[in-house]
Amino acid sequence: MKAHDGMYIGGEWRPARGRDTITVVNPADEQVVGHVPAGGAGDVDDAVRAARAALPGWAATPPAERAARIAALRDVLAARQDEIAETVTAELGSPLPLSRSVHAALPVAVAGSYAELAASYAFEETLGNSTVLHEPIGVVGAITPWNYPLHQIVAKVAPALAAGCAVVLKPAEDTPLTAQLFAEAVHEAGLPAGVFNLVTGLGPVAGQALAEHEGVDLVSFTGSTAVGARIGAVASAAVKRVALELGGKSANVILPGADLARAVNVGVANVMANSGQTCSAWTRMLVDAERYEEAVALAAAAFAKYVPGERIGPVVNAKQRARVRGYIEKGVEEGARLVVGGPEAPMERGYYVSPTLFADVTPDMTVAQEEIFGPVLCVLRYEDVEDALRIANGTVYGLAGAVWAADDAEAVAFARRMDTGQVDINGGRFNPLAPFGGYKRSGVGRELGPHGLAEYLQTKSLQL
Ligand code: NAD
Repeated sequence: MKAHDGMYIGGEWRPARGRDTITVVNPADEQVVGHVPAGGAGDVDDAVRAARAALPGWAATPPAERAARIAALRDVLAARQDEIAETVTAELGSPLPLSRSVHAALPVAVAGSYAELAASYAFEETLGNSTVLHEPIGVVGAITPWNYPLHQIVAKVAPALAAGCAVVLKPAEDTPLTAQLFAEAVHEAGLPAGVFNLVTGLGPVAGQALAEHEGVDLVSFTGSTAVGARIGAVASAAVKRVALELGGKSANVILPGADLARAVNVGVANVMANSGQTCSAWTRMLVDAERYEEAVALAAAAFAKYVPGERIGPVVNAKQRARVRGYIEKGVEEGARLVVGGPEAPMERGYYVSPTLFADVTPDMTVAQEEIFGPVLCVLRYEDVEDALRIANGTVYGLAGAVWAADDAEAVAFARRMDTGQVDINGGRFNPLAPFGGYKRSGVGRELGPHGLAEYLQTKSLQL
């Protein structure tokens, strides 16, 4: 797609107030793919005003009509999937098959789920002598990251629109072209002017201005825990609602009776997807002492399939590459056994990192505690099931996880004791209606499905 040199505000592309721009680079070959405006507080203010002006009309629109507009948006996203996939590949560097099957396809499913939910959700309920109205929270400031650029936009904007809210989006600076494409899709779908607005810009400038703006009623943020904590503090001071979707360090727990080969292969694929840049990735594999070496050998064999530049893409930018390589060096320093990969760059051009497998990782090591956000898997040994649970729960995060056992009941019993928001049982598949969000420092609030819609609503009780 061709980059827009303006902001999408009030239903049209308007010139940015300033002249600053962001250069968009393809992480696979380090070539410039476009420029977008870097907005400031003035652009954010224009966008929030447009959203406030559009809010009463959209909030009063019957849910069935809102549903029809969201269905139209889903249809545009579906019709433009090839262009979306190519744009994501150009600015995120993900291999085209992944861009097609996940980055372009998942948002269609999520938008479709909200078209249905907008039509079927009970926006009114009766409790004794009260009628409880579930009303839109108001203007939403959405701040999104680059790792699943369109999914994370749709996971916020679609439920906000379904709820009757108006939105201002500030997307990640690494992937603004996908966000511009989304704004085009909103326009094509015929949403009323001002219901959705886009301001591209830098986090500490446009992002901060949006989070602090008094015309924003709810800030929905996905990204790092450090920035999320700051946004949470700003929002609380203003008595504003906040939803935070932060990092993770999820455990893939392989219990003694599990199908080891399957658990290891699915686990490696889970971490390698999107070059390890998935907040819910199972980056710690937990195996019993008896089958530990067999699991490490299976994982090493699975790693051979992930050739940089073919099945696995680069990480998003030079800063992330340096960060991931720093973690790999730290793992070696702290005594983990390097089985595959290492800190050396596998390619001369592009922000590639060698897929790296660490064994003999102990729970206290940095690589077992901190989110690396790259293609790095740590295999940890546990003595018994209680030890496995202690290790699985032994980080500040709690976003996702997996449990494999001889039967589902045994895996479910273990999963019930995990401090985490989502657990896949014996390879259970992704469900776009299931609530997604974190325990502990992985966040506040839930996205997707009816629970994701509820985040954008507030209640009013009428006593009759
Ligand atoms: P980040 O938190 O800096 O950026 C996420 C979004 O927040 C972007 O849109 C950014 O512009 C915006 N932002 C940055 N500073 C801001 C501020 N002061 N006020 C308001 N908005 C601001 O994340 P990053 O630097 O792109 O990535 C760093 C790390 O974050 C990664 O290595 C990874 O650990 C984590 N991360 C997690 C997720 C996730 O899905 N949970 C996604 C991306 C990154």
